[in-house]
Amino acid sequence: MIMKQRHGIITVILAMMFSIGFLANFNAPENVEAKQTVKVVKVQKVASKPYRASKGYMYNSAKLTKKIHNLKNYKKTTFYSKKRVTVRTSSNKKSTYMYVANKNGKIKGYVYAKYLKLYQPTTINIVGTPTNSGNTQTETTTPNLISKANLESMIATSPDLDPTGQLLSLTTGDYATYKSVFDKNFNVGDYADNGVFNNDQASIYVESSQLVPYVQKAIDKWNNALGSIVFTLGTRQSHSMTLDFGNGQIAGWDGVFFGNGIDVDYTSFHDSTYPYGYLPMSSNQPVTIHLSTDDTSGVGDGMAAHAANNFHYDRTNHYLTTTITGVPRELLETYWVGVITHELGHSLGLDHTPYFQDIMAAQTGVEDGQSQENMKYNWTDYKDADNTQGGTMTATLTQRDIDRAKLTKLLGYW
Ligand SMILES: [Zn+2]
Repeated sequence: MIMKQRHGIITVILAMMFSIGFLANFNAPENVEAKQTVKVVKVQKVASKPYRASKGYMYNSAKLTKKIHNLKNYKKTTFYSKKRVTVRTSSNKKSTYMYVANKNGKIKGYVYAKYLKLYQPTTINIVGTPTNSGNTQTETTTPNLISKANLESMIATSPDLDPTGQLLSLTTGDYATYKSVFDKNFNVGDYADNGVFNNDQASIYVESSQLVPYVQKAIDKWNNALGSIVFTLGTRQSHSMTLDFGNGQIAGWDGVFFGNGIDVDYTSFHDSTYPYGYLPMSSNQPVTIHLSTDDTSGVGDGMAAHAANNFHYDRTNHYLTTTITGVPRELLETYWVGVITHELGHSLGLDHTPYFQDIMAAQTGVEDGQSQENMKYNWTDYKDADNTQGGTMTATLTQRDIDRAKLTKLLGYW
């Protein structure tokens, strides 16, 4: 998610809530308390597919009022999907649950979608030639895996949080075996709900026509960078994820990804003083805005208020200062394209990095006391030098963003 600049912070991109989704969204569903009001915002029928779950709870209703089963007791039970339900909690977070039932229908209820993994029984490869006696030797093949030590030394020689070279050309078995090593070292994870990506593509239904040109530009950024059609615009009838306006004012986000959709904050999107402060919107003359991540001034005034305060109050902290130049209308358009591009990055499995230049940048790995799910190390300030261009503000993908998205494809997250 992209958090609003609080206290005049430039752009705090939340971690996934995906919560990290970014940030707020990544609250585990177990945190849903019975007291909380949960609203069902969408119910969709889904094809019956086999799933297994090893953690989380099964709830009696889509309002999550009562936990009826602890799924760690049902690790070997195959559940079949019936419905997909999108709910919104009182803290304004959306999450997706699936209504599932076991084969005889006796164990049934609502399960957080991320905890359901498609269940495909392992195939056994028969190796060797049958002997004369007709016996066959049956064993699972042992793929030639890279050793963990080798993998770690490869990671150590690659740039920070940037999988390069051989790290992007290992075997399927290597990626499957060392998923958690990759997740942790490159701040990635499987964040999109099941069914969002089909054949490596997601189709996005944009509910407000006003957002379509922004989404199209964000789609183009990723498709061009990855050299394939990863995102397409979908229709109301046919899509695998949604994008719409939402209300991020209370939770403090500009954009948020919640498993099978993205919301963009309606109020800030329609506020031409956000995020840069007052801009002469009808002018075609470029303006220059000085920005600082220093949070001790300009509270609530937008980042342009920092123009006059372009110095560091507290020299123990690294306050990034930078300058952005452009025609006002284009600056704002680019910012929101950047927000959407960032949220699409979360759907690809990318969590935040401390690099301001990245589209996936966030000022800290911990927001609201929650660490992002996969984090190589914690950080509390951007690591770039002053006067670097922010990825979200310029809607620009860095090589690190692109390499990480290539990795998450290899890991099977999209
Ligand atoms: Zn984010």
